[in-house]
Amino acid sequence: MKLFSVASGSSGNCIYYSDGETDILVDAGLSGKKIQLGLDQFGVDPKGLKGILVTHEHNDHIIGVGIMARRFKLPIYLTERTYLACKDSLGKIDNNLINHFDVGEKFDIGNMKVEAFSTYHDAVDPVGFTITSKEQKLGFLTDTGIVDQRVMETIYNSDILLIESNHDEKMVETGPYPWGLKKRILGEKGHLSNTVAGEVLVEVLKGKTKKVLLAHLSEENNFPQLAKITVETILAKAQIAVGQDVQLDILPRKEVSPLIQL
Ligand SMILES: [Zn+2]
Ligand SMILES: [Zn+2]
Repeated sequence: MKLFSVASGSSGNCIYYSDGETDILVDAGLSGKKIQLGLDQFGVDPKGLKGILVTHEHNDHIIGVGIMARRFKLPIYLTERTYLACKDSLGKIDNNLINHFDVGEKFDIGNMKVEAFSTYHDAVDPVGFTITSKEQKLGFLTDTGIVDQRVMETIYNSDILLIESNHDEKMVETGPYPWGLKKRILGEKGHLSNTVAGEVLVEVLKGKTKKVLLAHLSEENNFPQLAKITVETILAKAQIAVGQDVQLDILPRKEVSPLIQL
């Protein structure tokens, strides 16, 4: 399995994922041009993609979905409620390219078995994904205010887990955002903090996960080093050594990440 992010953060999210035969994108929240340039860095031809999975209708996840679908005739996969919520922003897409799934449903894209599970976020029908093929599982979890037992069990035993580490709680509290926005970020339908990401990982890493990618970092309320140190410290207290027991990487907010392989 191999993947890289074209971008990961509140100004745009787009992840490329391949099992060696089937290639997909999860979210396309950047301009078509930026996505194409990003894919090109690893020689990925967008025409070869088998589809775009969409987590929810916020612009940082969908702004390039319509253009990529039209330009390269790519199928898109999203819940009907999410589709209705972002239909206008997507623009005209051929009906036969639009695939709806229900939350909890498992469906196939090429060799990949995709499971969509609901997350806790201020969108109409937000989801995370697990994608399994060739006995390897990717867990994909961003844009959620909390992680409960159900979500924990779903992402458990992911070979690679991509998990949000959005903000440092103190930076949000003391930062310049208006009160309403602070409340939104820190709320149960907001985003995962570095601390909560660390606590979730303490549980998840009891399973076989060996690679973790911290994703969707906030530009105003986080620093890559702070996210890493916060998570590493929480893991260390649980006797989990980063670099030995697990590999931990941070996906850059605006640049293309290195290629991540397993
Ligand atoms: Zn987002
Ligand atoms: Zn969102």
